[in-house]
Amino acid sequence: MTNINHDYIDRFLIGMIPERIGILKEIEEYAKENHVPIITPDIASLLAVLIKTAKVKTILEIGTAIGYSAIHMGMCAKEDFSITTIERNEESAALAADFIKKAGMGDNIKIITGAAEEVLNDIPGSFDMIFVDAAKGQYMDFMKKSIDKLRVGGLYICDNVLFRGMVADRSLLIRRKITIVKRLKKFLSFISSCESLETVIIPIGDGISVCCKLK
Ligand code: SAH
Ligand code: MG
Repeated sequence: MTNINHDYIDRFLIGMIPERIGILKEIEEYAKENHVPIITPDIASLLAVLIKTAKVKTILEIGTAIGYSAIHMGMCAKEDFSITTIERNEESAALAADFIKKAGMGDNIKIITGAAEEVLNDIPGSFDMIFVDAAKGQYMDFMKKSIDKLRVGGLYICDNVLFRGMVADRSLLIRRKITIVKRLKKFLSFISSCESLETVIIPIGDGISVCCKLK
């Protein structure tokens, strides 16, 4: 229940997607047991289409958790890709490192352990895609600190931007989430009207925004 779509729509959409196998299935099971909020299959499919269409090879990710989305994106990008992924929780980062090694992607995926707001400035490079899936109240700050690292024509994608519908409808709002929701709304209105971005907000999963950097 995400309050984004009718449950029967989410169930139907996810039911269309083939079951994962191998390491991804293994991580999904771990995530389920341990309540790690990894990307849902519909979000994974969207990322797959975008990565394959835009021939994405270099990715910066904010919010590794246990490595599921990083490994999935790596599989989509196939050979000679490189992913830099940031995680502030040391335990999660260590688990991610194990899964990434098991996936045979140790040379392609680099984990940076630390808070994104602190480590972003020191990350060099020009990426084809940036995927943000971390503290929702900080999306604006993350964007300020990372948009220069995205090449022109690149994709800037943020997960969970509709935050269980709370962003769109006050009646769903939980008191203790007011600040996060306010910040998310501000962020969405910024990316929607920013001249240097082409933006779409898609109501699948918990809501995902996709921006193309125009200049
Ligand atoms: N992208 C992952 C799931 C990420 S869950 C996947 O789909 O597989 C969100 C993660 O972001 C958590 O592990 C949390 O520790 C991390 N996080 C939250 N805020 C952060 C920040 N400011 N800097 C770095 N990591 C952060
Ligand atoms: Mg997410």
